[in-house]
Order: sequence, then C-alpha cells, then structure tokens
Amino acid sequence: MRLLFVNAHPDDVEFTCASTCQQAVALGWDVYEILMTSDEYGIDKDDFKGKRIKMIRKREMFEAAKVYGINSLGRPKINLIWFGEIDGYLKFNRVIFLRLRKKILKINPDIVISPDSFFSMDLHPDHKHTGWLTYLIIKSIEPSKRPVLLLYHSFNSNFYVPIKDISIQIKAWSKHESQTSPLLNKILKLMRKIFYFLRKRKSGHILAEGFRKVNFNKNENQLKKLRHKILYYIFANMLNGPSKEHYYPTPKELGLIF
Ligand SMILES: [Zn+2]
Repeated sequence: MRLLFVNAHPDDVEFTCASTCQQAVALGWDVYEILMTSDEYGIDKDDFKGKRIKMIRKREMFEAAKVYGINSLGRPKINLIWFGEIDGYLKFNRVIFLRLRKKILKINPDIVISPDSFFSMDLHPDHKHTGWLTYLIIKSIEPSKRPVLLLYHSFNSNFYVPIKDISIQIKAWSKHESQTSPLLNKILKLMRKIFYFLRKRKSGHILAEGFRKVNFNKNENQLKKLRHKILYYIFANMLNGPSKEHYYPTPKELGLIF
C-alpha cells in the first residue's frame, strides 16, 4: 500500500493524524509526504524569517519523521518531498495544480490524506489551497484508478482510525522545537486528550483520528446543515491564519525569489 500525505507545512501530520501515519509505517506501507511549503514564515522574529527558519524547519521535519520509524541507514521511513512553494504565499492556480498533479500521479498512491477545505476547522489560506488542489487533482483521476481521499481537520468527519498510541502525537510534534515549548507540549497533550474524549460518541467509543472520506458525489461539499454553516462561519472568522503583516518582509526582500 502507498499512502500519501499532501500538507501545507511541516508539522501538519503531527498536529492532525500522527497515529494514522505511525500505523501505516508500522504496517510496512510506503508513506510519502508532500510538503507544499517549507514554513519560511514560521517564526515571529523578522531576522529568522526566510532561508534561516526554512533550514531549521526542514531539519525539524526530518527529526519528526524519524519518530514514526527509521530504516537501516537511520533515515526516516517516510519519504519527504519538498514542493518548494513559500509559506503564506501558496497560490491556488493552474500551474501549481499541474505540477502537483504530476507528482501525485508519479507516486500513484492508494490513499491520499490532505486538509479539508470545505468543512474546515482551520481556514489558513495555505491549508485551504492545499485541500482544494488535492481534492481537484484526485477528482480529475479516472474513478477506477482514483485513490481513496481522506481529509483531516474536518468538522464533518465520517471515517475514524483508532489511535493505538496517543503519545506519538506529542513525541513527533515536540521535534518541531522552534514551534513549541515543554509547557506548550503539556497543554497540547491535555487538549488533545479532551478533544478525542469528547468525540468518542461520534467515533464509536474509541479514541480515534477523524477524517472525511470523500465520495465525489454531487453536492457533497455543500454546507447544508445549519450546524455546519455556523461552524464554518466561526472558523472562517477566527482561524484565518496569521495577520497580513506576519508575511512581511516579502519573499523577494528575503531573497527567496528573484
Ligand atoms: Zn499548517
């Protein structure tokens, strides 16, 4: 089996579906992770933005990937693929669609996991664009050859993967040292436990990571229920990512593009 994650940033798997990733690696599946950006703005300090934090984030992602399993050379079993777009500036356009489509088709996955951009608990533009791109690419594949598409960060989950080892999330997430602290790790650990516990009723009374399994049916992405409309409105207004100012100096000023 080949499992492919398509994520906006390093740490998105750790934050949303680390246990699913760990279990796929343990089963001996080929696991790939396409990272659309390298988190070039993943810090508040302007001095670090750009190439400096990019280098740090790539190293941290490498260490986090090792937590899920290493090969005989001591390298992560997960294949990390850096797509090369810039954090906060990931566009949703035809050029990127075609580039990403080519990569996905080359990997030829059985299962693809990406953010939900329709029933989303997080409307950060990079997540939203990654989700839309992945969704449309998988939709463009002939139905008989189409991989299963599972979307995380969804408030309309319908597919649950039981968590085998809940500690994996913090173990892997804590490798992203520039993004966290020992105190934050503890808080996050507690919040995760509460979240999974509260969702137990929906996930069949087990602790589980939730996804929305896409059927590519007509209108399946439409917000029909009032509860979903309210949730979308709340998330759209609250979690739209960092402020515009956070993404200055511009990529050009940072020497990321010419
Ligand atoms: Zn992210």
